[in-house]
Amino acid sequence: MTSRRAFLAIAGAALASPGTARAQSDADPAMISAYPALRVLLGFGNAQPAGRGTFTFNGNGYRGDFRRIAGGEVVNVIDIEQYLYSVVPREMSPGWPAAALEAQAVCARTYVLQRSNPKRDYDLVPSELDQVYSGIAGESPAGRGAVDATAGQLLRYGNLYATVAYSSCCGGHTEASADAWGSTPVPYLGGVPCSYCTGSPNYRWSATIPLADLEQHFAEQLSPFGALRDVRPAGVDPSGRVRALELVADHGSVTVKGSTFRIAAGPRVVRSLLITRLRVDSGLESLFAEGGGLGHGVGMCQWGARGMALAGRSARDILALYFPGTQVSTDD
Ligand SMILES: [Zn+2]
Repeated sequence: MTSRRAFLAIAGAALASPGTARAQSDADPAMISAYPALRVLLGFGNAQPAGRGTFTFNGNGYRGDFRRIAGGEVVNVIDIEQYLYSVVPREMSPGWPAAALEAQAVCARTYVLQRSNPKRDYDLVPSELDQVYSGIAGESPAGRGAVDATAGQLLRYGNLYATVAYSSCCGGHTEASADAWGSTPVPYLGGVPCSYCTGSPNYRWSATIPLADLEQHFAEQLSPFGALRDVRPAGVDPSGRVRALELVADHGSVTVKGSTFRIAAGPRVVRSLLITRLRVDSGLESLFAEGGGLGHGVGMCQWGARGMALAGRSARDILALYFPGTQVSTDD
């Protein structure tokens, strides 16, 4: 366990800073293939052994073991592959084609390496903040099949494990991680055209946002300038996503970051920052927006993975498109 923690600490550092990448590549890959246990925080509740390598937490079944950390919360200590059995069908519909689920499994497995944190009592939380995990009830035969078919496979960039990201639908072009998050550019997360996600119900969307809601949300910033009259893009990144928006009021304007605007409007209302049209109605009551995609758009486009799988492409083809320059490999 100590060796795994040491390795993952190095992996995390390498992912955070290219300057430490050499340290990661010097680590013994066997530590990963040994697949020691992962720690998933379940929270407060009642945990009981249930036999055959399982336990129950608040009445739900989980694989692996459990322990209580300081403060009394329950942590699920589980083999990474068994954890993925539950994650893959929660992060992607288990009814989707096998190649898409297998690409998801490789992404999810690689993501785990980014999140291990030996300074905490757990590595991951079981929600969208990391990856959705709900124990045995979340599993499905197709999900287990995708995990088993890719057993041990991880996404690499050279000697490093890749930083993976994925979102529902890119709307036609994935986003550069540096543009989405203001982070250091990553060679394989620079954004690529995607022609495979047109089947998504969110490939194109429209939304109507009451101006009063925006005025209320940005009341402090707008207060010197009077009533809100228009909303305009203020800078677009190479993928077509809006970097910032200008809120035009009677006597001046305020510029807000795209992500701030999306949260204000509601992330399920403005489903992405790939906003193609903004128009305020003549009565100054509503902002009408049109756009494409759902989510941040960085990394694998899940609906695109589905489209590629339906077109007969493999999981490796999918990962090669969305993470160009990376390779899929196992640590043996
Ligand atoms: Zn796409």
